[in-house]
Amino acid sequence: MSRTVKNAEKRQRWIVTSAWPYVNATPHLGNIIGSVLSGDVFARFLRLQNNTDVIYVSGSDMHGTPIAVDAIKQGITSEELAEQKHRDIVQIFTDWELQYDNYTHTHNPVHMKFTQDFYLEIQKNGYIIEEEHEGYFCPIDEMFLPDRFIEGTCPHCGQPGARGDQCDNPACGRVLESEQLLEPHCKICLIKNRDTTPIRKKTRHWYLDFPKLERQLREFIETNKYISQNAKTLCLNSIKEGLPRRAITRDLKWGIPAPFKGAENKTIYVWFEAVLGYISAVKEWAELKEQPQLFDSYWKDPNTKSVYFIGKDNIIFHWIIFPGLIFAYNKGKPPDEQLTLPYNVSSTEFLMYENDKFSKSRGIGIWADEALEIIEPDYWRYALIRNRPEGRDVSFIWSEFENSINELNDKIGNFIHRTFTFIHTKFDGKIPAMGIPDAADKEILEIIKRSSNEIGDLFYNYRLKDAISKIVDLATKGNIYLNNKKPWSLMKTNKEEAGHTFNICAQLSKTLGILLAPICPTAFRSIMNVINIDKPIHEIVWEDASKYELKAGGVIDTPIPVFQKFKLEDMLEQFRRSRDSKGLPFTLPDTLSGLEQKTTPSLNVPKESDREEGYISYKFFQQFQFKTARIKDVEEISQLDKDQKKEHLQKFILSIGKEFPYQVLYARTGKTIEQLHKYIGKDVVYLANLENLPSLAKITKDQKSIVLYAAENSQSMVLIIVDKIVRLGSKIR
Ligand SMILES: [Zn+2]
Ligand SMILES: [Zn+2]
Repeated sequence: MSRTVKNAEKRQRWIVTSAWPYVNATPHLGNIIGSVLSGDVFARFLRLQNNTDVIYVSGSDMHGTPIAVDAIKQGITSEELAEQKHRDIVQIFTDWELQYDNYTHTHNPVHMKFTQDFYLEIQKNGYIIEEEHEGYFCPIDEMFLPDRFIEGTCPHCGQPGARGDQCDNPACGRVLESEQLLEPHCKICLIKNRDTTPIRKKTRHWYLDFPKLERQLREFIETNKYISQNAKTLCLNSIKEGLPRRAITRDLKWGIPAPFKGAENKTIYVWFEAVLGYISAVKEWAELKEQPQLFDSYWKDPNTKSVYFIGKDNIIFHWIIFPGLIFAYNKGKPPDEQLTLPYNVSSTEFLMYENDKFSKSRGIGIWADEALEIIEPDYWRYALIRNRPEGRDVSFIWSEFENSINELNDKIGNFIHRTFTFIHTKFDGKIPAMGIPDAADKEILEIIKRSSNEIGDLFYNYRLKDAISKIVDLATKGNIYLNNKKPWSLMKTNKEEAGHTFNICAQLSKTLGILLAPICPTAFRSIMNVINIDKPIHEIVWEDASKYELKAGGVIDTPIPVFQKFKLEDMLEQFRRSRDSKGLPFTLPDTLSGLEQKTTPSLNVPKESDREEGYISYKFFQQFQFKTARIKDVEEISQLDKDQKKEHLQKFILSIGKEFPYQVLYARTGKTIEQLHKYIGKDVVYLANLENLPSLAKITKDQKSIVLYAAENSQSMVLIIVDKIVRLGSKIR
């Protein structure tokens, strides 16, 4: 399949999407691998292809009852709470190096307007029906109550506190209809300590007429070349059972107002609007770029390939409900006005945690934010894709995680580092020349040549896990080659021959770096920097992995190990500290209980009384959060000091990977602003958790005063520069 894709003359357009995370919950590792990371790796792979345009979009699902209930509890508006949670998710995804072209949310005006227009079109096309039914109405709040706003006693187990849609008692957990609840109460009134009984009242709702779409959907599934056999069977069975009409309106204030006549005070059911975000996010992206026509060229071209990265529980929704909505919208439109149907859906099975279910309340699992406090994103990205639940559920097992990241270091990292170090120390940092290749050399050269096609095919077929296996195989062959050739022992007798081998190893290192680019973006950049590849990093393409292009004499910079080894005990200790610092429970999984003894801090922390004067405790030191940032700009500012004298300060604008810049003040550097400009673009160290110093200039709400670390050198300032590309905001430990 990939060959036809690559050789097609026309430019390929891809829309890559991942499931929209519900804003109320912090994503855990299962959510990360299930959709957003898989989509990111695939989109990064496509961005490296020639003649390919790709846009990767998703966003936070902001509406619905859980967030509305939580907002009432916290006494803030649903919008405030959702915005706050959305910003947290954006931060986490940025830290994970998830590179979206547009990560938006469903409460943005473009999406809201798009959704309303979309459903009016569907209504015009005859797919919306109105029906009356009875629902609960709270006379105090003067509103119809969605299922989750009703609380009562479960008719099955007798437990109070059951919700209108489900009983929360773990021993029961039955799905309920709200009218089955005994002693129903309005949840809002309960939160506000009012005792009211909701009354039954007739209300009108708007339904999507799915039975009318059955024929088209069956044909779409039956003739689809790409859908997996499992998904096909699942979808055809559900069509055979008969597609029900689906209510698309809800009696809830927090949401997108339903656009239908007579539907005032109702909103569109979250499930039926968030899914349209796949379309509206591209529209918003095109508008932000001030090229609105790009929206049509992606969504209204039948040749565009749209791919959806989702968990297996959403298969029906993406293969039936979403295409159904598109069919209903497209009816009667000329071809160039029609939205394109899904090209493929890549679904993953579930990820468990040490054979248990993720549970925030029980503290079972690892959440996306705390994972990065343990180790850097490249390692997580590698290990999660290495273990991607393709074809069956898998469990995150700590010991396997340790194996995966050590494999990354031992097989791939060590090969590259050995090669670069040798060239650096024995060949003056210049790539030695290649001689005449023998059979063993030719085998490696052949592997390099085939690599981009072979591994590219796996990516194009969403076999991300197999792609990693293949990359590891390549590195293993490189290690065997190097060990057999033993160039280090040839150094004294035949330096040219040794150089010849290292030339080939350097080429293979470059190949490995490019093949890893979609998975380990930091390592990729760092490898390309060491070999001084003669084009800007963003111009490197996938096919370059197969090119034999490092010239003899090319400079190899001082190599720093691309990866490192981690001990399980140390990672668990870091995990424990992260939980401790937030006051959250930490328990070792049963499989690791033997480690309990070993995971107490291995550092020799001196007792308070033993400490030398002038020294601080390790515990105290841990409270300082040193992080890395990039200098974006330097400005001169002046303010009056306490004697009303004007003093000149220099302000550094830093990028720390967050949405807003942080500023640094009070650097009296003794340098001119022109001299300081040469620091722009450099990565430096700063203290992230210092409170704002009130005496210093004006600090707006979005800014913080932070200390930029500099070594003292009489009058001038020498910044402490970070000597390797690391993720901005990385902790200094
Ligand atoms: Zn129950
Ligand atoms: Zn009420």
